[in-house]
Amino acid sequence: MKVAVYPGSFDPITLGHIDIAKRALKVFDHLIILISNNPHKETLFTSEERMDMVKDAMKECLDKIDVFTSNDLTVKQSKKLGATHIVRGLRAVTDFEYEFQMTHANRVLEKGIDNIFFMTDNMYSFMSSTTVKEIAMFKGELSTFVSPYVEEKLKEKF
Ligand code: ADP
Repeated sequence: MKVAVYPGSFDPITLGHIDIAKRALKVFDHLIILISNNPHKETLFTSEERMDMVKDAMKECLDKIDVFTSNDLTVKQSKKLGATHIVRGLRAVTDFEYEFQMTHANRVLEKGIDNIFFMTDNMYSFMSSTTVKEIAMFKGELSTFVSPYVEEKLKEKF
């Protein structure tokens, strides 16, 4: 069984993240969505809230998905979970520099895990959790960015 880990902050999960997860599921038998719980990174939602939103967003594929939180290095955690690949999404060239550094750092840390990149649908290429939070803060229209459940949760926060 081919297992991959899709790590990220998912603060909150957007339609762009869902698009990448669904693309990865066409290639891998099982996908573990790993929600980072980095004490140095301030998030709007707690890890429990982020997990709840990820599970709701992916509810049609829960038989092929696990959702966990992580306090460890992604490569280490991925190895422990039996994954061979780390999935990341690419939106534009601006994502490349960061992903390039991360991939090479990961290879030094753990040789058995490789990174694999999927490009999002054009309609999501401008979308980020940061943008979504800004739109929510100013009470903008959210339905083209997030699921109805996440939209509700964002409205509760602001
Ligand atoms: P991180 O803090 O690790 O960047 P994010 O939750 O912001 O976590 O993103 C997780 C992954 O999903 C990253 O690979 C990021 O490039 C990708 N991603 C985020 N938004 C989109 C999007 N709109 N389309 C495609 N990939 C995306």
